[in-house]
Amino acid sequence: MSVIEKTNEERLIGLENKFGAHNYHPLPVVLNRGEGVYVWDVEGKRYYDFLSAYSAVNQGHCHPKIIEALVNQAQKLTLTSRAFYNDQLGLFEEFITNYFGFDKVLPMNTGAEAVETALKLCRKWAYEVKGIQEQKAQIIVCDGNFHGRTTTIISFSNDENARKNFGPYTEGFIKIPYNDLEALENTLKSSDSIAGFLVEPIQGEAGVYTPGDDYMLKAKELCSQYNVLFIADEIQTGIARTGSLLAVCGNCNCENKCEKQSTYATPDILILGKALSGGVYPVSAVLANNSIMNVIKPGQHGSTFGGNPIAASVAIAALKVVNEEYLIKNARVLGNLFRIKLNEYIPNSNVAILVRGRGLLNAIVINDTEESDTAWNICMALRDNGLLAKPTHGNIIRFAPPLVINEAQLLDCVDIIIRTLKQFDR
Ligand SMILES: *Cc1c(COP(=O)(O)O)cnc(C)c1O
Repeated sequence: MSVIEKTNEERLIGLENKFGAHNYHPLPVVLNRGEGVYVWDVEGKRYYDFLSAYSAVNQGHCHPKIIEALVNQAQKLTLTSRAFYNDQLGLFEEFITNYFGFDKVLPMNTGAEAVETALKLCRKWAYEVKGIQEQKAQIIVCDGNFHGRTTTIISFSNDENARKNFGPYTEGFIKIPYNDLEALENTLKSSDSIAGFLVEPIQGEAGVYTPGDDYMLKAKELCSQYNVLFIADEIQTGIARTGSLLAVCGNCNCENKCEKQSTYATPDILILGKALSGGVYPVSAVLANNSIMNVIKPGQHGSTFGGNPIAASVAIAALKVVNEEYLIKNARVLGNLFRIKLNEYIPNSNVAILVRGRGLLNAIVINDTEESDTAWNICMALRDNGLLAKPTHGNIIRFAPPLVINEAQLLDCVDIIIRTLKQFDR
């Protein structure tokens, strides 16, 4: 190859730059294979995946049982639309409602669609059950939230980049500070037109902000007191990521499902996506009990692909893997180990300020401004050292490996991370 000839990697990046909209800023690495905790680039170099597609790949890349479900179903029936019944959807609906302990599920595809579904469901419940005056319903959301990219959802984002010049914005949302029960109570008190409180149990995109241990439980109690629906967006935190089935469980120590835990704040509406398919296929879901879900009648909401037989079959397989491979316990145990190891290093570092998180959803804060490129440069060096991660906000790097990672692999990764951070110690 002559020096002016482009590498395969440069050529593929060039294609995305030339023919794709520039709505992302990817780390320059071109992947073509994944297995478990590893991904490989087109040159055959192997990396630990410490992003897991924003926690979609909790079960590890190309999990054989999930892929088997995908392939088997793809060879039989892929899509009927909801105009007809199919032989997989009912099975999935029974399975997921039992798994999470709700009466009913409404299946969608992407996370943002599931959030939209939850908002519509909440509003309809407010008018038809709670009796709020038509057009007046308000939903409380938190500063720093990330719930997706639709026009309604970005209407209540604080991220200027996500919002600017996409208006006019959707009305009916009240923003309060995150992890602030007093602000929640004052807002609930201030009006009888409040329909719901939409919240992430840990703010992932904002930089893995973990609220106080009792925040979820107390917030749920306040919502119940004011007859307001408590809506948990567990798209990133749910399905074992934080060391419990759902992060609304807080720091419970249960081995598996959390229904029996006294600290379990059962959401009125639960939103799931990402790992619901193990990153194999877009599958999202909204779960609620009959008193809420029954307000939706035929023709009032839907999706051509929502609840399709491939999605149904893949999601059952993905949820079974979580139990069969003890991913909840693994996330909890290895997450603790990860933070212990990094906390041994951080006091001696002047580049990493702190590590925070729960289970295997963690982040380190870099000692530089949000505008600086230090975190980006650290991620480039991590890449060179065989580990892929990305800054969330300017100076915060999220670490979220697939939950099938084992202790030896995790310690190897801790070693890579500390070795790389030391390159930046001044
Ligand atoms: C990823 C994410 C979404 C949006 O999901 P998409 O599938 O990208 O639409 C919503 N909420 C949270 C908390 C997320 O992490």
